[in-house]
Amino acid sequence: MLNLVLFGAPGSGKGTQSEKIIDRYGLHHISTGEVLRKQIKEGTELGKIADSYISKGHLIPDDLMLDILRQELKSLPKDCKGVIFDGFPRTIPQAVELEKVLEEYGTQLTGVVGLEVPEEELVARMLKRGKETGRADDNIETILNRLKVYHDQTEPLKEHYQGKGAYMQIDGLGDVNAIFDSVVKAIEDK
Ligand code: AMP
Repeated sequence: MLNLVLFGAPGSGKGTQSEKIIDRYGLHHISTGEVLRKQIKEGTELGKIADSYISKGHLIPDDLMLDILRQELKSLPKDCKGVIFDGFPRTIPQAVELEKVLEEYGTQLTGVVGLEVPEEELVARMLKRGKETGRADDNIETILNRLKVYHDQTEPLKEHYQGKGAYMQIDGLGDVNAIFDSVVKAIEDK
């Protein structure tokens, strides 16, 4: 199986590059942000809890996220060629648990695609997305909180994965197709 983590700050292009990777390699997409937004839209209990964190730009607690991960993996088709984890893991405990769960499925992480984009560009992209899609957490106050949370809680994962030789650093600035070419090259050189 080809199992990839799409890693990067909010607004770094994880969703966009995930779609292109899925088209190329026929992988299954697990976007924890999408799962949570769907629950919010449907007004479920989980959605209500999630909304209270997402609207402030905070992370959902690890135990809830790990339940979601297990649930999503359970619904994978039998002939699944691999999975793109988009927006997961976001903390060290989530990363440790992901490795364990993949092992239970008799598979492992192939690598981590790290999209690196300067901060001003991240803010500009999220403000633009907020205007175009109405995404509730793409407002300036929540964006700044999300970036702080990213630096404090998620960025340490880069070192974690570098230590394992799993991190593929990609320049996430510029033309979407050119970035995708770099992603494909990194995956195929792995
Ligand atoms: P995303 O669509 O990946 O940017 O996620 C949107 C929001 O959902 C984040 O700002 C978090 O509040 C929450 N979220 C998504 N994935 C996770 C995760 N792995 N751990 C904790 N919170 C998450």
